[in-house]
Amino acid sequence: MFEPCDCGSGETYIGCCGRLHSGAPARDAEELMRSRYTAYSRGNVPYLLKSWAPETRPAPLALDASQHWIGLTIHRHETTGPDTATVRFTARWRQGTKTGRLTEISRFRREGQGWVYVDGEIE
Ligand SMILES: [Zn+2]
Repeated sequence: MFEPCDCGSGETYIGCCGRLHSGAPARDAEELMRSRYTAYSRGNVPYLLKSWAPETRPAPLALDASQHWIGLTIHRHETTGPDTATVRFTARWRQGTKTGRLTEISRFRREGQGWVYVDGEIE
């Protein structure tokens, strides 16, 4: 059965964000951003914490189970330094009969073999 990835890449979950959720390092900030969106969509709190920079990581992280993430659009992936990058994206959500969208510029940092989310500015 073809299980499309939540991030909208058109790949299978296993071949896309699922790889990162299983421990593969993100190759770039956009890949990490996508995997974090999919982790929000699937309620994967351990992965969200693991992919968060230690100094900005919330503890504990509580997700609102009534909020469903229903689509991701990546607008721009920009390298801002040798080990830093930003990704501007819009994520759409549904909560009961309400829908909305969140546009954010997220900052990422290379750490070890992969990347971590540092913080973001909601537009
Ligand atoms: Zn994906």
